[in-house]
Amino acid sequence: MDDQVWSSMETAGLDELRDIQLKRLKWVTKHAYDNNEAYHKRFKDAGFHPDDISTLADVTKIPVLAKEDLRDAYPFGLVCTPKDTWIELHSSSGTTGKPVTNVYTENDLQAWAEVMARGLYAGGLRPGEKMQIAYGFGLFTGGFGFYHGARRLGAFTVPTSSGNTKRQIRLMKDFGAHALAATPSYGLYLAEAAHDMGMSSDEFELKVGFFGAEAWSEEIRGKIETAWGPGFRAAEAFGLTEVGGPGTSFDCEHRTGLHINMDHFLVECVDEEMEPVGEGEEGELIITTLTHEGFPAIRFRTKDLSMLHEEKCECGRTLVRHSRILGRRDDMMKIKGVIVFPRQIEEAILTVDGASGNYQLEKYMAGPFMDLLVKVEPEPDRWKKGDHGALSGEISTEIHNIVGLNLKVDILEPGTIPRSEGKAQRVIDRTKE
Ligand SMILES: [Zn+2]
Repeated sequence: MDDQVWSSMETAGLDELRDIQLKRLKWVTKHAYDNNEAYHKRFKDAGFHPDDISTLADVTKIPVLAKEDLRDAYPFGLVCTPKDTWIELHSSSGTTGKPVTNVYTENDLQAWAEVMARGLYAGGLRPGEKMQIAYGFGLFTGGFGFYHGARRLGAFTVPTSSGNTKRQIRLMKDFGAHALAATPSYGLYLAEAAHDMGMSSDEFELKVGFFGAEAWSEEIRGKIETAWGPGFRAAEAFGLTEVGGPGTSFDCEHRTGLHINMDHFLVECVDEEMEPVGEGEEGELIITTLTHEGFPAIRFRTKDLSMLHEEKCECGRTLVRHSRILGRRDDMMKIKGVIVFPRQIEEAILTVDGASGNYQLEKYMAGPFMDLLVKVEPEPDRWKKGDHGALSGEISTEIHNIVGLNLKVDILEPGTIPRSEGKAQRVIDRTKE
């Protein structure tokens, strides 16, 4: 093993990786067609047969799978292996409808551990080091995904799960955790809480945090790194419950996007008509799991907007990268007739000195149009200084610079916006009130 990467797959030639992808794409479509009635029917109805795959470009012949299809298949309608092979189940929260379930066989867990270990290694975690996992352990994929990966790597895991913030901080300090895995909003909250407990970042041995499961901007990344002090790196892990949880891709120290574990996932980037876009062009990511036996997701529509980059990264990895998620098709808001993504507002807020990463956006109706109220907490020192009108004005100007809209910005006392131990709720919908 080369000490720069966890697996030789990460630096294999693109031709070799694509050969593997093609072989595995043939395997997974045949596996689903032969062993699952619903997949068989879907393929047949679309006029697709697994033998139609002779190049990777043929993937576009396969019908796409929407989140609704997975909900319709609840609980086990798309599982392709017999029940006695199932050993673990994870699921989405189901807060907006029927949950999406994912079933793992032993081989699936092995594959998950492998792709997670690559990301942890790329983030600088080494065998024998300690990782505190503050993602929820349970049906959510975050806790167990990092756990399986850390075990494969040979790290020492401290599975605190989410919640009980003060205890998290004490354990992180007492056990000397080198790495933290959490949502970015919780990673930031933990740093704030440690500060409130009178601790400074140099009392911790933390060198890396693995964040994911919610959209976060480069600015929030900067805030988290500043809060945890010099020498701390905020790394990113990407994945979705529908494709097996975190582990689809991970970033390296060069931050040129997220390296896709190509031998396990085929990632396409398409426009609204589902036509492939060119390299470096924005589109929606479509993900096919190439090695999952239990529940293979074949051409799952993520609704996540990103772009692909193929040139070799400075880190030496040849794995194709996708950019950080630029937004979700679902998060897109039409405010006074202008398309706006929450991330753009976040970017504007965080370019202003004194504004914190704690904010909330409220959608409401102003006559026939949807309008947006931006609520921002300043950093505590900035709050004490007063003159909040000036801060509000600066944020409003930045928002105008980025999205071209004049939005009302309310400045709230630090600590007012509810904190989350899991995914932060950034957008509140008051249009029905
Ligand atoms: Zn890289």
